[in-house]
Amino acid sequence: MAGITIDDVTKEFGEGEESIVAVDDVSLDITDGEFVVFVGPSGSGKSTLMRIVAGLETQTAGDVHIGDTLVNQLGPRARDIAMVFQNYALYPNMTVEENMSFGLKMSTEMSDDEIEQKVRSAAEMMDIDMLLDNTPGELSGGQQQRVALGRAIVRDPNVFLMDEPLSNLDAKLRTEMRTEINRLQSELGVTTLYVTHDQTEAMTMGDRLVVLNHGDLQQVGTPLECFYRPANRFVAGFLGSPS
Ligand code: ADP
Ligand code: MG
Repeated sequence: MAGITIDDVTKEFGEGEESIVAVDDVSLDITDGEFVVFVGPSGSGKSTLMRIVAGLETQTAGDVHIGDTLVNQLGPRARDIAMVFQNYALYPNMTVEENMSFGLKMSTEMSDDEIEQKVRSAAEMMDIDMLLDNTPGELSGGQQQRVALGRAIVRDPNVFLMDEPLSNLDAKLRTEMRTEINRLQSELGVTTLYVTHDQTEAMTMGDRLVVLNHGDLQQVGTPLECFYRPANRFVAGFLGSPS
């Protein structure tokens, strides 16, 4: 397992007058096993900060540690993380089982039996074991999202990164999957970074909130702290704090 340390991380896109500072000197300590929600309006830098932790984007300045390892120079595959996005990115021509086992077959030396075992137990955990022979096109949006989560679990990652994973689902399924993600995270105890612009998800899902605006860290605290003791007008307005 692993915590995450973000030290003075800045990300600038472009150069000179045209440049955009997407993440502005953000520092943050995330404890091993913690569920942290990055929240803020569209364009506030949530995805960029997460993509830097994932190794999909290189920061302009600053350091990221996962556990004790400085990961600045490591690509995504070397970082021991699993990601879940809003477009589930399942392979349409593969069965659920093949979607879930593909990554392990490519990247580990596990035997086929071991892989089958892992896929089966992840599928049971996500309640999709009856769908293993189906293809993604035969599944509902909610079921596809369960497969995407199952595929993340089979890799036994130290860190889950989820970027607006529920935003394509209808309201009822969103509620169901919020509970499901929280259950999964606490059962596995995996350090989780979760990006959302949804106030309900922010208030209900995480141990702590990281509130961003224009790439600036506005406040870090429990949902109740941020709601009842907002650091500034922006946080109060965004979370709808009582005035
Ligand atoms: P959020 O996820 O909070 O909506 P993003 O991290 O996607 O915000 O974007 C933060 C800022 O960085 C925005 O102004 C966005 O336009 C800009 N940005 C993000 N990715 C790129 C990129 N690849 N090239 C240029 N600008 C980008
Ligand atoms: Mg985003």
